[in-house]
Amino acid sequence: MGGPCHTAPVQLVDVREIYLDYNASAPLDPRVVEEMLPVLTTGIGNASSAHRFGQRQAGAVELARDRVAALVGGTRSGVVFTAGATEANNLALRGAVEAAVPERKRLLISAVEHASVRRTARRLADGGLAKVDVIGVTPGGFVDLDVLNELLGPDVLMVSVMAANSETGVLNPVAEVAERVHAAGALLHCDATQRVGRLPFDMAAVGADLVSLSGHKICGPGGVGALVGTATTLRRLAPVIEGGGHERGLRSGSLNVAGIVGLGAAARIANDERATESARVGALRDRLVTTIQSRLAGVSQNGDTTRRLPNTANLRCDGADAEAVIANMDPVAASAGSACSTGTIEPSEVLVAMGLSREAAFESVRFSLGRFTTEADIEPATSRTVAAVDYVRAMLAEGT
Ligand code: PMP
Repeated sequence: MGGPCHTAPVQLVDVREIYLDYNASAPLDPRVVEEMLPVLTTGIGNASSAHRFGQRQAGAVELARDRVAALVGGTRSGVVFTAGATEANNLALRGAVEAAVPERKRLLISAVEHASVRRTARRLADGGLAKVDVIGVTPGGFVDLDVLNELLGPDVLMVSVMAANSETGVLNPVAEVAERVHAAGALLHCDATQRVGRLPFDMAAVGADLVSLSGHKICGPGGVGALVGTATTLRRLAPVIEGGGHERGLRSGSLNVAGIVGLGAAARIANDERATESARVGALRDRLVTTIQSRLAGVSQNGDTTRRLPNTANLRCDGADAEAVIANMDPVAASAGSACSTGTIEPSEVLVAMGLSREAAFESVRFSLGRFTTEADIEPATSRTVAAVDYVRAMLAEGT
């Protein structure tokens, strides 16, 4: 396991294209496109300009700001538009560290954060700008509250714990984390990219000081997202991108008006339809999993299955390398958590942090469903998956 990527798909069953990789990027909702089109075709001007053209653009941006704030229980003035959740996470961590007093420069991050948190924290530590400690997770994938308690201290500036994990869908107890973090006088940054639009998330109610989100995870456009904070928290950040002073001086650069309008439209739709969509998608996800398990032996689920996103399942198929399974599932799309780095494949850091062996992590496939997944997708996706796992197991058993 962990050898070169398997790339040549083998034709096993005739299936149309089925997309089950929403956590990587969700398809753009046509209703979002409809709201973006006027901006792209007839929208003129820089949203910072005082003339009527600019002010029309600014008006569209402010409506989007309201909608994004509503999605996370924030306020309009707390929304800082960015080029996605990666940038929002960078701004939260780097911005806070740069503005912090020398006595409070320690960051705590959970072991299963997105790379944009983990690598940013590592770089800050490597550069001597911050001390960083990693909070381990339980076998179910939850941040370990006892470890958090042990690590918290008066030098901790910020704790970064995600709301929902992109690989397993496991939901962290954000309110319990916030209580402990605030008692230690630190800030809580919560990457809610995978949770918003799928389950309720109210930053004021749970006590998150800074929240990251992204357009393309909620059927909006890619390359746009936001960091949402309270006025007090945003004052504790330094900008990462310096320039004309846009977005409260925290994120300079002429605004991506069409993208922001698209993000706002996606946030509005997600807010309105979340409850019904999650129930429908959850039932489809459960059926996919139970059907696969009824037809294949040796398939188990990674991560807690009682507190997780309704759209996500991470399945370990014993004896079947996930990269090979995915290559053979084409044109059904799912994902393996492994990452190609410098020519070799590394297992998912998330699954390994949860205590899975490298072997088990290499045999794990993530299915993530969403708004445009239908009842009619489940049977063909299941049979394609079953055939691919059978095939890969047989090939590996033969040693080919
Ligand atoms: N955080 C999480 C939890 C994610 O799943 C992702 C996307 N994979 C990101 C951050 C990065 O988002 P973006 O693509 O908008 O930079």
